[in-house]
Amino acid sequence: MTSKRLPYFDENTEPLSSRIVTGLHKIGLAMKQQAWQQANEEGLSATQGQILAALVAHGPLTGSELSERLGVTLPTISDSVRVLGEKKLLTKSPDPRHPRASLLTPTEKGATLGARARSWPEFMATALKDLAPEEQRAFFSGVVKMIRTLQEQGLVPVSGMCVTCTHFRPNVREGASPHHCAFVDAPLANDQLRLDCPEHERAAEAARGDLWEQFMRPA
Ligand code: SF4
Repeated sequence: MTSKRLPYFDENTEPLSSRIVTGLHKIGLAMKQQAWQQANEEGLSATQGQILAALVAHGPLTGSELSERLGVTLPTISDSVRVLGEKKLLTKSPDPRHPRASLLTPTEKGATLGARARSWPEFMATALKDLAPEEQRAFFSGVVKMIRTLQEQGLVPVSGMCVTCTHFRPNVREGASPHHCAFVDAPLANDQLRLDCPEHERAAEAARGDLWEQFMRPA
């Protein structure tokens, strides 16, 4: 079959960035739908499931810490915590760090549901299996950069990511693992960067800018 390149798609294709946004929107809808459906099956709201999952992943947290980690307003967290308490899925105890705050801990049943809620996005892992390793690495690199931009714009919480962590030492050596985590004193490769590290400590705004500059400038 003879074919010649027609200019049709040159003139009738949205910019790549617009089509990436459309794709992310579709993925976001699928994740929301799955979270809602699976939460419903467990008798929870999606936020209640997220709270239990965060408490299982990070250990006891205060309402403010949950609000910051999940990017959900404090009143919404308080409502969900009240319902989870009524369902006997979590308990409150005094926080030794802040006399006026309470630490939230899942009960045994709450921890079981929280562990299940952590696996809700697993359907996405199945979809990612079709990506070759180098495609996964490129995708992950793009995700890190996009989330960091959203964090600096105040659209998602600044938490959990190496590139905003006070322990992160970017591009301190050459080779496959150019970065370093000072918390565990170990080298880090680009595809080992954390997005949700429990040991993350937020660097100050100016230091975050310096970290990013060093991260974007390979040794
Ligand atoms: S403590 Fe966690 S977030 Fe911070 S640099 Fe180490 S691995 Fe990354």
